[in-house]
Amino acid sequence: MLSAVSRPIRDSCAPVLDRCFRLVPCLADPARRSSLGLKAALVTLHLVFVGVIFLFYSELIEKTKHEPWYITFYLLLFVATLVQYFITSGSSPGYVLDAMRHANERNALFQKISTTSKQPASSKNGNMVITMEGSRSGRSFSGSNATSWTKLVLDLYPPGTSIRSLTCSYCNVEQPPRAKHCHDCDRCVLQFDHHCVWLGTCVGLGNHCRFWWFICEETALCLWTGVLYVAYLKANIALAWWKDVIMIMLLIILAIFLIFLLLLLLFHSYLILTNQTTYELVRRRRIPYLRGIPERVYPFSDGVCRNLYKLCCVKASVYNLERLPTAQEIEEKSRPYTCLDFLTCRCCC
Ligand SMILES: [Zn+2]
Ligand SMILES: [Zn+2]
Repeated sequence: MLSAVSRPIRDSCAPVLDRCFRLVPCLADPARRSSLGLKAALVTLHLVFVGVIFLFYSELIEKTKHEPWYITFYLLLFVATLVQYFITSGSSPGYVLDAMRHANERNALFQKISTTSKQPASSKNGNMVITMEGSRSGRSFSGSNATSWTKLVLDLYPPGTSIRSLTCSYCNVEQPPRAKHCHDCDRCVLQFDHHCVWLGTCVGLGNHCRFWWFICEETALCLWTGVLYVAYLKANIALAWWKDVIMIMLLIILAIFLIFLLLLLLFHSYLILTNQTTYELVRRRRIPYLRGIPERVYPFSDGVCRNLYKLCCVKASVYNLERLPTAQEIEEKSRPYTCLDFLTCRCCC
């Protein structure tokens, strides 16, 4: 019955929608459409929460005349949060296919150099080492997508690892440690953390730091807006009941958002400081390379300072692949802390 009623409406809307999709092609993709819808909803939510305070709180406008810096900083934070949101959502989380292309391009370049100089070439970039002897093998890696990448990925695993167990059946690419296929993005992501529906992209090696800054700015904005709401209610309570009802309702929603954001900020700070991902923490027992490692041992952690540096300061870190730690390294990390360890800052170095 319902479908019989909705069909004529759908049919009559179809030409209009077709015209819309032709004008804006990205709207034709349902996933893209829902992502754009969520982005629009998020921006609207920000505008509503901030707009209402300026609309109702007339003393705030007065205050700007005496203390213009106060509102200037608040508006700057508001703009910075939205800018950070769009930067994070537009940034690549570090796709395995891009890393493979990058590695193959480098290999092709080094092969060219080594062919002309008749010398083996190698390049070291953090944990990612590209080593090849192109002049000896005489193979061309440019265009053939796997050979150099396969070698590079195998070097990151313990000897004897089967390449078949590392190949993603969707992308047909070998996954380095910590990479995972995202079914929403339909691609493998390096250091996969989670797929964020609000951002419309994955959070991974390439944008985890930006994501952290976004949550941090969002928390600060939420807190400051909450303070303004409380200040309004303190000064204007019982003046107009309907305004109070709106403000109290928005304040309750804001408080819920704030609790969620604070917990998220603390959680991601912990993940960054210990070099873990949400996926690794949640699925620790199911991930083969983490199985059997004691709970409080962080196998990829290089100490708080280096973890922070690696994630936030190394620009080329998008393709900074990490190898699996050896049994000896795990054993070293499992060693209980002594007073001397605290004195020598073992957790930081
Ligand atoms: Zn994949
Ligand atoms: Zn994704």
